[in-house]
Amino acid sequence: MSARKAATDEAAPQRDAGGPDAAPPGVLRVDLDALARNYRKLRALAGAAECAAVVKADAYGLGLGPVAERLARAGCRRFFVATLREGVALRRLLADVPISVLEGPAAGAEPRFVDFGLTPVLNTVAQVEGWVRAGGGPAALHLDTGMARLGLGAAEVEELAGRRELLRALRLDCIMTHLACADEPGHALNARQLEIFDTLRRRLPAARTSIANSAGVLLGGAYLGDLVRPGIALYGGNPRGTGPSPVEPVATLEGRILQLRDVTAATTVGYGATHRAEPPSRLAVLGVGYADGYPRCLGNRAQAAYRGLRVPVVGRVSMDLLCVDVSAVARGEISVGDYVELFGPTVALDEIAASAGTLAYEILTGLGARLERRYTGRE
Ligand SMILES: *Cc1c(COP(=O)(O)O)cnc(C)c1O
Repeated sequence: MSARKAATDEAAPQRDAGGPDAAPPGVLRVDLDALARNYRKLRALAGAAECAAVVKADAYGLGLGPVAERLARAGCRRFFVATLREGVALRRLLADVPISVLEGPAAGAEPRFVDFGLTPVLNTVAQVEGWVRAGGGPAALHLDTGMARLGLGAAEVEELAGRRELLRALRLDCIMTHLACADEPGHALNARQLEIFDTLRRRLPAARTSIANSAGVLLGGAYLGDLVRPGIALYGGNPRGTGPSPVEPVATLEGRILQLRDVTAATTVGYGATHRAEPPSRLAVLGVGYADGYPRCLGNRAQAAYRGLRVPVVGRVSMDLLCVDVSAVARGEISVGDYVELFGPTVALDEIAASAGTLAYEILTGLGARLERRYTGRE
């Protein structure tokens, strides 16, 4: 086991099923070196701004521990998570880095933020009051400028601006906002949000600014502020969804061939008999299904790849299985036990997401716990 680990640099499987699975039906490969290169690329694009990393939702499904540790080694010095629980989990992995928690402290939760050295993102006047009352350290203040999601709106900024003593007691590390349409560079709301942000923050004490997610980093210029907060681009998602990507793929989803089936008489494939395979052809049954986060709607719609050759997904996707037509692969070149790429270097994550009518974000964060996550570039 230790020799195998040293040779392949793989993570131990999460489940306790009597040791590592030599032939897991579904594998998620995570290239941590590519992650580090994407981080450096974004940091270069951010110019003088500090480049944090957003690692919420288990680092977008790729595994918080290996991802955060690799990013820290690549020079990342600030992390964002969504929830207190995620912040505590990250603090246990990284003792020293600032960790910002986007949801801010619920009333009564402030001592936990203090205990774990977490920096809250304060989203309401009440959260500011609670944080100051708890004697908390540095905090970020979130202004809502057009998302109507978290953050103080204009009226609350005005209220806070009038609370001189409260503001004096607040250690304001950063004032931030979040763009609604950063992935559409021409959208008028981008400039409008920047304008509202500048107007609102002038009512408050001076602090560092943070505006940009991944797509915001690509907008550049004034959108960079002092601190950028990319997430999806680190993990290989194209921030604009289409067009040339500024980052490289990090995650590869693979399904093991459980069975190869020569079609010698016409047959239907899968539930609902939605595909008809005609002889002569060849089908490969893979051990990945919608329970692993491969969308059911991709049946008869998406492509997969075998050693760089594209092959179609045929029939409906089942819970644990799906079928690809591998007639195009030469007979001697494919065997049971081989792995077929469901997305990765050949079939882009963003292509799969678009075929499923969603985003790379939803595909990655929906990847199932049953997949074995294997990491390269850990050391
Ligand atoms: C999730 C999130 C980010 C990261 O967004 P990406 O589009 O993944 O780069 C940045 N800021 C906030 C407030 C977020 O919620």
